[in-house]
Amino acid sequence: MTFAATVLTLYPEMFPGPLGISLAGRGLAEGRWSLDTVQIRDFATDKHRTVDDTPAGGGAGMVLKPDILAAACDSVGYDRPMLAMTPRGAPLTQQRVRELAAGPGVSILCGRFEGFDERLFEARAIEPVSIGDYVLSGGEMGALVLLDACIRLLPGVMGAPSSGDDESFESGLLEYPQYTRPVIWEGRTIPEVLRSGDHARIAAWRKSMAETDTRLRRPDLWERHEGARVQSPSGARQKKDE
Ligand code: SAH
Repeated sequence: MTFAATVLTLYPEMFPGPLGISLAGRGLAEGRWSLDTVQIRDFATDKHRTVDDTPAGGGAGMVLKPDILAAACDSVGYDRPMLAMTPRGAPLTQQRVRELAAGPGVSILCGRFEGFDERLFEARAIEPVSIGDYVLSGGEMGALVLLDACIRLLPGVMGAPSSGDDESFESGLLEYPQYTRPVIWEGRTIPEVLRSGDHARIAAWRKSMAETDTRLRRPDLWERHEGARVQSPSGARQKKDE
């Protein structure tokens, strides 16, 4: 099955862009995923092809018009999840990426200027998604990020099928630190355990490093990870027996 991506944008020339090279590009050429773009401006109805207007209530910038956006989205349809890029959306997670990658594909609406008329989200089944707590000038970079994260999970796109399993966020933790040759570089040695050949020790070291680094670098992730452990059925039983 081909993962079908449709991007609704004022700048279709930005696609596939960086997704046309390396693993994603090869996957596209091999038909493991497909890409369509929809020019939002094609759904403008006046002779100036207007897609935006001034914000109700005043303020800087321009807002994308709901009638034009809805017509563009309706032309694609809602068989696949329709996402809209906005800093007001739910932060994108590896879990959501995995769900999307397992499905038939995704449509992504890209904003520009001050973003979308809010009524669009009341009138259509469109999921607002953010790629992080910072502001981009347009949704296209966000769409590229989201698609890249999905595409690398598609069957046949990454070399070894298991190479994603240990990765950061897959277990709710950051990945353990990685090393490669030379064994000594600028006087620094690869940790001895990784050169021991003792697979059980290596696995234990990696688990412990993943936990320590997550706790120190991402207390937010660590808290969620620990919370999930305490709330799991086995955790609850343990508590009662104590
Ligand atoms: N005025 C808006 C920001 C508009 S930025 C606000 O403060 O919420 C212009 C467009 O860039 C947005 O419509 C959105 O499509 C995109 N964008 C900006 N930051 C983003 C983010 N963190 N995640 C996803 N899309 C983003």
